[in-house]
Amino acid sequence: MKEKIGLVSLGCDKNLVDSEYLLGALLENGYVITSDASEADIIIINTCCFINSAKQESIDTILEMAQYKTSGNCKMLIATGCLAQRYGDAILKEIPELDAVIGTGDFHKLPGLIEKLNNSRLKIITENRSFINYDIKKRVRTSNYFSYVKIAEGCSNCCSYCAIPQIRGPYKSRPIESIKEEVELLVSQGVKEINLVAQDTTSYGMDISGKPSLPDLLRALVDIKGEFWIRILYAYPTHIDDELLELISSSTKIAKYLDIPLQHINDRILRLMNRPINSEQIKKLIEKIRIIVPDITIRTTFIVGFPTESDSDFQELIDFVKIYRFDRVGAFKYSREEGTYAATLKPQVPERVKQERYDQLMTVQQVISKMNNEKMLGSTITVLAESYDPARKMFIGRSQKDAPGVDGTVMFQGEVRQLGRFYRVKITEAFEYDLMGEVVE
Ligand code: SF4
Repeated sequence: MKEKIGLVSLGCDKNLVDSEYLLGALLENGYVITSDASEADIIIINTCCFINSAKQESIDTILEMAQYKTSGNCKMLIATGCLAQRYGDAILKEIPELDAVIGTGDFHKLPGLIEKLNNSRLKIITENRSFINYDIKKRVRTSNYFSYVKIAEGCSNCCSYCAIPQIRGPYKSRPIESIKEEVELLVSQGVKEINLVAQDTTSYGMDISGKPSLPDLLRALVDIKGEFWIRILYAYPTHIDDELLELISSSTKIAKYLDIPLQHINDRILRLMNRPINSEQIKKLIEKIRIIVPDITIRTTFIVGFPTESDSDFQELIDFVKIYRFDRVGAFKYSREEGTYAATLKPQVPERVKQERYDQLMTVQQVISKMNNEKMLGSTITVLAESYDPARKMFIGRSQKDAPGVDGTVMFQGEVRQLGRFYRVKITEAFEYDLMGEVVE
């Protein structure tokens, strides 16, 4: 029997997809996967370096796993993913316990590389920064009823605060046939929710022959037989057009949900961020989306404390959030990323001010979110039953209004014969982020 391998996946859902493919490739090569780091012979950390806190978490995790070289079975410690891609030399130098760093476009080589490592330290980071054609049939899914499906890699937008294009390379779409084949397989395995992910999903197809668009991809996916939802995450605002909105509005298989990271509303800040949209265009876009898809749930994210952001710039953002009353809002405190234009801007906003603005924004949104949820009282919605909480004697699921991992849940009681099925649930209680109800059908 080959060695036992433990894998820690950090960062975003796109990284999780990579980890799931990697697990499949390792199993295919005869390795045994363990979730107990103390018994793993080889530990792989799939790292993130999106913002400074993510870098720190990745380094802390590598150091934590390095301890199993003395207290556990670990003989080989490997870092892959975004931090490894960007800071491979530095972490190999600073962390002597690391045996290898493998870049984002190279980790498919890992199963073959492990055998060759034998006491030598290795760095493999090539120019090929992304998109590996893994065997989709071997993917090891880490969630039961929903799945993320990567439709593209990399990013060709030039947001001034973001280092991702440097790490993951330019935008690279995956062919429709390949995505369709994977979704068909997932649906046949009982997956009920397909979350389409990429750094920017609405740019889909711009780089491949024939320039298929996201609507073209969606039309191919809704043709797949079976009961399931498709959810669009990470939509870039300037690429959301009427064709996409009308498709969302008319299809029963596409969730009435859009995740559109807007980042800010102040024109000066948007320009400094190098976002190709201004506040008036953003407001018109949100209004148009709500007209074409009246029952849509809009999620967005903002960056607070971007360099030069003044109190009045921030107040403009708060006023915008109060008026436009988004269903879901996430926020990041600006993180100064080396090699980006925004890192050179002056003045940078002090950490204390960033934290205050973050807290203020989230408090404002909490009130809006509770009021939005209270509007749901008495309504009956379709919920995907995902788990059972024996302590509370409640089933837990999500409706189309909630994306996995980032939004709320629906807790409910009633006759549930099977997890991984849709139920009609009448909403009886509303909280800030979650709902509670009872099965009616
Ligand atoms: S750096 Fe970005 S793409 Fe890489 S894991 Fe982190 S969030 Fe995901």
